[in-house]
Amino acid sequence: GSKAKGGNQYAFYTAEMGEQATQHLRLEGALQRALQRDEFLLHYQPVVDIGSGRVTGVEALLRWQPAGHPMVSPAEFIPLAEETGLIVPIGDWVLATAMRQQVAWVRAGIGPVRISVNLSARQFLGQDVAQRVAALLEETGCDPGYLTLEITESVLMENPAAATETMGQLAAMGVQLAIDDFGTGYSSLASLKRFPIHSLKIDRSFVMDLTQDADDAAIVNAVIALAHSMKLNVIAEGVETNEQLAFLQARGCDQMQGYCFSRPVEPQRIEAMLRVS
Ligand code: C2E
Ligand code: MG
Ligand code: MG
Ligand code: MG
Repeated sequence: GSKAKGGNQYAFYTAEMGEQATQHLRLEGALQRALQRDEFLLHYQPVVDIGSGRVTGVEALLRWQPAGHPMVSPAEFIPLAEETGLIVPIGDWVLATAMRQQVAWVRAGIGPVRISVNLSARQFLGQDVAQRVAALLEETGCDPGYLTLEITESVLMENPAAATETMGQLAAMGVQLAIDDFGTGYSSLASLKRFPIHSLKIDRSFVMDLTQDADDAAIVNAVIALAHSMKLNVIAEGVETNEQLAFLQARGCDQMQGYCFSRPVEPQRIEAMLRVS
């Protein structure tokens, strides 16, 4: 009867939830040890100038490679790292590693390469990120003029006063700021005026169906036009096809990232691309 069925369902969900909680704890423990075990690495995705086809920079994307397991995607562990506060030491490692990579490329004669680093909400709003960035710039010798920090709109809108202050401090050091996943949050372009921003990155969800969906095409057009009227640089994320690229080129989008050019790759492969570019 229905009662028995309900009981079964209840038992099923409990077991499922218990298993999820156990997995969650296991993941948290593994994540906690990952830094000491040196299991993180950075992959880099080229940022390409649409006009010239040249690689103008790279975005650092965090990867976790636990020993004896497949690589874990950031989408799977960044939320947990945020929740537990582990994002602060992990994010610090990302910043330091990306800055050292920038310096290593200069020393290797590849020239200064703009490196973009993602900052999470907790990293950006929760600690003195400007002080941390200043210390790491000093420690690594990284050129702040070739460092971009990416934050999402929702982070700006969560605490606009604090965000304005922090961004002002970072901009004063010569670091550029980009709004990531633009269009998915609730900020208006007008409200962006008060932040010292250099670039907008149009979220992949708008680029994906650009050539089929008239609404997405209209959104992308509007973002490019308005961003340019505010003297902001526009980067399209997740460009996979030549049709999408042609559309963006016709609309004057400045730069793009996407599988149509390259997936995120190991630093050595970036070096090869930069040497020919
Ligand atoms: P994001 O910053 O918006 O990065 C872009 C994501 O889109 C990357 O996923 C990239 O691999 C993927 N992508 C790029 N081009 C294409 C394409 O043509 N098609 C498709 N389908 N995907 C494309 P990834 O590396 O899995 O990173 C996901 C998100 O995790 C990032 O989104 C960012 O929010 C976060 N993340 C990555 N690294 C870090 C980090 O070091 N710190 C923090 N706080 N977050 C990070
Ligand atoms: Mg990003
Ligand atoms: Mg993005
Ligand atoms: Mg995105």
